[in-house]
Amino acid sequence: MNDYKIVIDAGHGGDDPGASGNGIIEKDLNLKISNYMYDRFRELGVPVKIIRSTDETISPTERVNRVLDAFGNSNDVVVISNHINAGGAEFSYHYKI
Ligand SMILES: [Zn+2]
Repeated sequence: MNDYKIVIDAGHGGDDPGASGNGIIEKDLNLKISNYMYDRFRELGVPVKIIRSTDETISPTERVNRVLDAFGNSNDVVVISNHINAGGAEFSYHYKI
């Protein structure tokens, strides 16, 4: 494996629930998936940081700052932003880095 560094972003959080349906709220599922991935990468010895590990409101600007603060802006940094879309339009922001 190359020396990649991983940044995991759990989409939405806090006041921003993301999509919801069938009793599932996107922010909660995103967080579960992200915490699982974070633990797994750590177990495997891969450098990894997570943008949020609790149900926390993060502005788009703050989210990007946290991504950039994790390992800097470099080609060996992989950012994984977890989202569970609703199958149609999603009425929330998404960003590209
Ligand atoms: Zn989403």
